[in-house]
Amino acid sequence: MTADSRPVRTRYAPSPTGDPHVGNIRSALFSWAYARANGGAFLLRIEDTDRNRLVETSLGAIMESLRWLGIDWDEGPEIGGPHEPYFQSQRLPLYQKAAASLIDKGRAYRCFCTSERLDQMRAAQAAAKQPPGYDGTCRRLSREESDARARREPFVVRFAMDKEGQTVLTDMIRGEVVFENKLQDDFVMVKSDGYPTYHLGVVVDDTEMEITHAIRGDEWISSAPKHIQLYAALGWEPPVWAHLPLIHGPDHKKLSKRSGDTALLDYRTNGYLPEAMINFLAFLGWSLDDHTAILSIDEFKQHFDLARVVANPAVFDIDRLNYLNGHYIREMDDHRWRRTIAEWCEKDLPDSVKRPVEPAVIESVAPLLKERTAKLADIAPMVEFLFSYDAPEFPVETLIERAGDAATAVRVLDVALTSLDAVPDSAWDVPNVEAAIRGMEGALDLKLRKFVSVLYVAEMGRPQGIPLFDSIVLLGRERALQRIRTARLRVG
Ligand code: GLU
Repeated sequence: MTADSRPVRTRYAPSPTGDPHVGNIRSALFSWAYARANGGAFLLRIEDTDRNRLVETSLGAIMESLRWLGIDWDEGPEIGGPHEPYFQSQRLPLYQKAAASLIDKGRAYRCFCTSERLDQMRAAQAAAKQPPGYDGTCRRLSREESDARARREPFVVRFAMDKEGQTVLTDMIRGEVVFENKLQDDFVMVKSDGYPTYHLGVVVDDTEMEITHAIRGDEWISSAPKHIQLYAALGWEPPVWAHLPLIHGPDHKKLSKRSGDTALLDYRTNGYLPEAMINFLAFLGWSLDDHTAILSIDEFKQHFDLARVVANPAVFDIDRLNYLNGHYIREMDDHRWRRTIAEWCEKDLPDSVKRPVEPAVIESVAPLLKERTAKLADIAPMVEFLFSYDAPEFPVETLIERAGDAATAVRVLDVALTSLDAVPDSAWDVPNVEAAIRGMEGALDLKLRKFVSVLYVAEMGRPQGIPLFDSIVLLGRERALQRIRTARLRVG
């Protein structure tokens, strides 16, 4: 409930102009959690009024991202609700009505300026070192003239901003933020195609949909004075605002593609678990207390509170996400873990590998993989070696590089062959294989860690992976020895 005892209603209002990124979904998650923590409703509204920037696949990606994480909406696309439709492009009469009432009140006006004229105006402002902004030419037109020109000329509708004094935003996270009105511009509210801009759309719909808390990213804070003035001019009650902190990269600069700002669903493709992602996003700007680091979605939605969201930028730390993912992988029960391995193997193993993946193989590697997997996409490359007679293809240089030089590679492989050949099939288990390989240290006069990666390459086609002794046992005596012989022949 809100202070005036209306039920809490929050929304996520994405523009379908591309796949949602981490920051967008963090806004969705916090809005959703606030509604859930307060027994309220969470809405999904699609702000699709910028017709030039629409991306066909976005809506699917938005809904898929939310569903993947378990963020459910009570009203919105595919669900409907009392405020249907939830696509702004289907709500144009509402915005036109609001625009008309503002024109009638003298708080908005039609602007007939052509783009050429606006370009000249901006160039002149730049040359005179004046701040950019609409110069008010059409604000001075009489109503009669405006009505007459509207019948024959295209126009946009601008909001007549109050340019005197200050506009004060009271924000749940940022506190009081003061904006100087003289710096404000008569922004476009309705475009020449009749669609509203974001500012009008968001104010009309947050009101009509009875949103009590507008929770959104800090990048929207500069729009707040426009919205506050719009609410006042329309005589409507604004929602409570909460601007969530920006997300920075580890370099404390704006998050970039390189520092992790990619489509949320890319994380799913790369093998992050939804539990890890939720846990990670939850702490981008919020904390439960000063020590809790692991939190489930249920705990999050129960405890989320805007009072514990900080105003300073949050830092996106991929190592933390990897750590959390590893944590949730290790928490998985055996059944789910085996199913996950099977799924990722079926999906990612190269075509040369035979299918279906045998359950017995999965069962035996499952515990070994669990300790070593940071992302599910690591699984197939780590187990590929188990699925064919020969080791996966590898450049012979990889093996020589691991040994240091070709002569050492030959020595390692020869000694390995003799040592392992001495272990009979009936004794082919981890302790015996381990003893045989450790015994090579004396014969080679080399430390285990110096030559172990040569054996990894020979057996698995890659210099590291799941534990070597276990892998050699899993391969079986014949295959393991054959792979060493093949590698030996290839080195020369
Ligand atoms: N349509 C805006 C966006 O794409 C919504 C901003 C808001 O929540 O007010 O993020």
